Amino acid sequence: MNTSRYIYLDNAATTKMDERVIEVMNEHFKTSYGNSSSLHSIGQKAAQTLVKSRETIASLINAKREEIIFTSSGTEADNIAILGAAAKNQTRGKNIITSTLEHHAVENTCKNLKKKGFSITFLPVDKYGLIDTKELEDMITDETILISIMFANNEIGTIEPIKEIGAIAKKHDVLFHTDAVQAFGKIPIDVEAMNIDMLSASAHKLYGPKGVGMLYLRNKGVRESGGKFIEPIMYGGGHEKDMRPSTVNVPGIAGFAKAVELAKNEMPKEIEIQTNYRDKIIKNVLGKIRDTYLNGHPTKRLPNNANFGVRFIEGESIVLDLDSVGIAVSTGSACSSKSLDPSHVLLAIGLKPQEAQGSLRVTVGRFTTDDDVEYFLEKLPPIINRLRKMSPLKSK
Ligand code: PLP
Repeated sequence: MNTSRYIYLDNAATTKMDERVIEVMNEHFKTSYGNSSSLHSIGQKAAQTLVKSRETIASLINAKREEIIFTSSGTEADNIAILGAAAKNQTRGKNIITSTLEHHAVENTCKNLKKKGFSITFLPVDKYGLIDTKELEDMITDETILISIMFANNEIGTIEPIKEIGAIAKKHDVLFHTDAVQAFGKIPIDVEAMNIDMLSASAHKLYGPKGVGMLYLRNKGVRESGGKFIEPIMYGGGHEKDMRPSTVNVPGIAGFAKAVELAKNEMPKEIEIQTNYRDKIIKNVLGKIRDTYLNGHPTKRLPNNANFGVRFIEGESIVLDLDSVGIAVSTGSACSSKSLDPSHVLLAIGLKPQEAQGSLRVTVGRFTTDDDVEYFLEKLPPIINRLRKMSPLKSK
C-alpha cells in the first residue's frame, strides 16, 4: 500500500467517519454515559439525547420519532423485520416475496425461514437489476405476508421502483420491508409517500459509526393491536419498545443522528457532485478501456456507484494492483469479496460466472476530490493492460 497517497473509492463497503460526527460522539461519550432507562439526571440526559436523535433520524424519511427502533446494525434490522413479521403473521400465511438481488442479510434470513417451513419467492430481475412490478403483483397469493425488496443494490447501485412496490403491497394488504442500507442518506426517501412499513438503515454507510443501525417500524395504530405487526426476535429488558432489548448505545446513536443531519443538509449538493464523478468515471472507463461494460442501470442507480465488467481478467487482481498504487476499490460485495464464489447479484443480472469474476466496483463519497478521480483514471488503464497481457483468458 502506498501510504503517501491513499484514495478511498469503496464507500459502498463502508465510509470514513465525518470529523463532525466524531466530535459529537466524543462529547456524548463524556456526557451521555448514563443508562437511558435510569431515573437519575445523568440517565435522563441520555434519554433526552435518544429522543432528539430519534426525531432527527425520523425526519429524514418523513417518519415519526416513535417509529424508529435503534439496532446494532443494518443486518440486525433486516433480521428483526423479516423474522419478526414471519413469526407474527404465520397463521395468516407463510409466503414471503423477495428478490434475487438482496444483500445476504435479507437473502440468508429468508433462506433460514425456508428451512422452517416458509415458502420464499425469489423475484427475478432484468439485466439492469430491476424487478418487474407486474410480475411482483402476479406472484402475490393469499399466503403472502411480506414483501422484502431492497431500495438500492450494494453492488451495482440499481434503485428499485419502491413507490410502485409500496402501492402494490398496500393494495394487497401485505407488509412491505425495504433494506435501504445503501440508499438511506444518499437519495430522498419518504416512507409515507412510498407506503413502506419497515425500513433498515445503518450509520456506517453515511459517515457515521459502525455497529449502529435502525429499523423504521410503521405505527399502524388502530389497525393492529398495540401498533405491532412483528414479534420480537430477542428477549430482555423493555428497550426500544420491546423490539431490541439491551442497554442503548447513546453515543453511537447521537453520532448516527449527526450523520443524518449532515446527510440531510448536504444531500442535494452531494448528489450533484457524486453523480458528476460517477459519470466521468463511467464515460472514461467505457470509452478508454476496451472490453469493459457497465453493470447496473445507466440512470436508475445510486449517485456514487459505478460497477464495471472487465473482460479477460479477475476483479481481485485489479483490486490488489490498484491497492499497490494507493487506491481502494472492490470486486463483488464487501461481505463476500473474500469468497471465491461469483457474486449472486451479478449472476442474477445474467452474467456468466466467469464474467462475474471480472467485476470492479468504484464508489465515490463525501471526501472524494477531482484529483482522486483523475488519479484513478490515470492508474487504471495500464494496470488492466498489464494484467491482460499476463492473463490466460486474454483476447489480445
Ligand atoms: N444491506 C445492504 C444493502 C448492505 O449494503 C449492507 C452492508 O454492506 C447491509 C445490509 C449490512 O449492514 P451492516 O453492515 O450495518 O450490518
